[in-house]
Amino acid sequence: MSFFNSIGRSMQRAPRPPRRSTTPTSATFPSTESLPPATPTSASAPKPLYLCSPFVEAALVKGNFKTIVMLPKYADVMEWVASNIFDFYQNLNQFYGVLAECCTQQSCPTMAAGPNLNYTWINQDRKSVQLPAPTYIDYVMTWVQNLLDDENVFPTKSGRDFSPNFPSTVKHVYRQLLRVFAHLYHAHYQQILHLRSEGHFNSLFAHFLAFGKEYELLEVKDIKGQPGAPVGVGALWEKWKEMGILES
Ligand SMILES: [Zn+2]
Repeated sequence: MSFFNSIGRSMQRAPRPPRRSTTPTSATFPSTESLPPATPTSASAPKPLYLCSPFVEAALVKGNFKTIVMLPKYADVMEWVASNIFDFYQNLNQFYGVLAECCTQQSCPTMAAGPNLNYTWINQDRKSVQLPAPTYIDYVMTWVQNLLDDENVFPTKSGRDFSPNFPSTVKHVYRQLLRVFAHLYHAHYQQILHLRSEGHFNSLFAHFLAFGKEYELLEVKDIKGQPGAPVGVGALWEKWKEMGILES
């Protein structure tokens, strides 16, 4: 079933938990340690660790993700997408909360996601600006939290419908959450390994990718990037397709 052809259905949903309690910022997690350089700049940089065995195979969930992204019987597709986005956001936010002390204006002066890729933010004047990664990520997470809290976007009360704009809104959300994943893999994979969380993080990301593919929330160009400025995790996506973890 196509998510984008299912607009306008009504639904009922259990209320979501209250808004996140912490907004991770560099101020919340001051870091005094010196950190290794986060961004290899050379084109001949070694293969990222997340593409290397055994890390690339590390997972909490073995097998293909197709079964867990399928729409459950009797569930409304809008409702299903909304609740999954809520879960992806919560899980990613928790990871970021732990990694935030390593993601500072000094360690990450740009929102890097590949050797030649720095995401820019569109500011209020519609100008594309470079932001330090912690600022960028804080803007994304606060923006998504505000959407989740907005009854007009993510309705929770019975009898309220999703807006016709919901699919395009969640596509924007997906794109920005993907950028947060892309930065964490690119710049903070060492810390994920130190926490021994690579299996957990891989499973969260693979689930996110499989879900995004199934419901047309994910643009291939966003995961692969532009020629000359590839997204680091685009190679991981390819690798997981080869390994049968994701559908090709
Ligand atoms: Zn960072």
